[in-house]
Amino acid sequence: MTSHLFDHFTRAITDPAKVFIENFDGRTVTFAQMVERSGQIAHALQKHGVETGDRVAVQVDKSPEMILLYLACVRAGAIFLPLNTAYTPAEIEYFLGDAEPRVFVCEPANREKLLPIAEKAGVRHVLTLGTANDGTLIEASSPLSGRFTDVSRGPDDLAAILYTSGTTGRSKGAMLSHENLASNARTLVSYWRFTAKDVLIHALPIYHTHGLFVATNTMLLAGGTMLFLPKLDGDAIIRLMPRATSMMGVPTFYTRLLGHSGLSREAAAHMRLFISGSAPLLAETHREWRARTGHAILERYGMTETNMNTSNPYDGDRVAGTVGYPLPDVNLRIADPETGSPIPQGEIGMIEVKGPNVFKGYWRMPEKTAAEFRPDGFFITGDMGKIDERGYVHIVGRNKDLVITGGFNVYPAEVESEIDAVPGVVESAIIGVPHADFGEGVTAIVVPKAGVDVTEKSVISAIEPRLAKFKLPKRVIFVKELPRNTMGKVQKNLLRDQYRDLYKA
Ligand code: AMP
Repeated sequence: MTSHLFDHFTRAITDPAKVFIENFDGRTVTFAQMVERSGQIAHALQKHGVETGDRVAVQVDKSPEMILLYLACVRAGAIFLPLNTAYTPAEIEYFLGDAEPRVFVCEPANREKLLPIAEKAGVRHVLTLGTANDGTLIEASSPLSGRFTDVSRGPDDLAAILYTSGTTGRSKGAMLSHENLASNARTLVSYWRFTAKDVLIHALPIYHTHGLFVATNTMLLAGGTMLFLPKLDGDAIIRLMPRATSMMGVPTFYTRLLGHSGLSREAAAHMRLFISGSAPLLAETHREWRARTGHAILERYGMTETNMNTSNPYDGDRVAGTVGYPLPDVNLRIADPETGSPIPQGEIGMIEVKGPNVFKGYWRMPEKTAAEFRPDGFFITGDMGKIDERGYVHIVGRNKDLVITGGFNVYPAEVESEIDAVPGVVESAIIGVPHADFGEGVTAIVVPKAGVDVTEKSVISAIEPRLAKFKLPKRVIFVKELPRNTMGKVQKNLLRDQYRDLYKA
């Protein structure tokens, strides 16, 4: 039998004895063990009644075994459904109710509090998986045979559902097929030149597309090794660099590492590639990183629903502040947000994508799905952007983060990059705050450098000559840091809530 995605992975194995994952505690999983142990877990899932198309929901801390569980689901014909470890029991209740998984796998320590919730949602079995190769899932699977006949699944069958972070309204389950994942992994391996010689520093969470699919699927196809860290740990990353070739991170990784005294050209001498994504990388971070290490960070752009869409080139200019070119099999256009019709080159509009990477729709939300696709099959990403004369894609902000002031559109990224360039500013976020005269008032939330004297006036006067008047912030508010989620994204919804009364008399 053939499992479209897993077949890709098994076909790529050239050296079964090679290490696929090395965990921070020294535990390793070879490629042969990856096949055998995912086979055992697949048997265990079937023993717990998992059938083709069933969902297996998982909320556990990062471990190599969670990756084996993902592969086991794919092999058993099930749909892997990872959940953010930060979700509270009340949130888990929503996801279990919405996805109706057959099995739910949680941390051993959380079983007691989550069991009644899972039972209420009709989940048949609650299993546990700890970070030390422990838990009832491991107990159930280790006596079983490692030979497993994969359940036949084709390119369009679902492999995973990933819930979007949902800063507006309820989270939606993005349905990803075997070929959505396989095609993107194939593209990234060749675009980023991954081979079996690669060793990837992996400090991302694995419930999100970045650490789970972009990193793991790519390394499975390349036959490389991943060095697993439970979380961002500057000391450990610097220590691992001489053994590694590459790292994938969110921008916070790079800003934090720049604050580490051990980061140097020598420390990064063995590395060939630093990749950033999931949130915008500051141009200054790009510059500083290059000065300190000699490496130009490669920035790429993707989302849960689409996998990766664009990337700066491997050879050629990696341009700070851009997300590079559309990937080879991704059709990307900039369209009028209202009508979807193409707009002239260089102008700002909605980024829309079509290709084998684009998901199959939102789980049990046919209307929402229909609303987010154009009749010609393009997915409306919700990101506003433009393509410059060299073909590089620029993201100017989420559509919902657009500020409309006195009838004019203000794209946050444009104002943010001007403010970020003001001496004494670390970074900034532009939000729209209700304003009696203007509808929304452009508002800047700014993180100043410690010990530097920047004021509302000095920021405004520095950017005034460079921006049209309507784009200038009505207020500049200084904060110690911007609220970010685990993927490094600034949570503008929280800022909008916090400052919603700013312009009220
Ligand atoms: P997620 O589905 O959590 O991966 O979030 C996807 C969103 O993250 C995209 O729609 C973008 O708004 C944002 N994003 C991802 N990569 C980048 C990037 N390199 N620059 C700016 N925004 C990004």
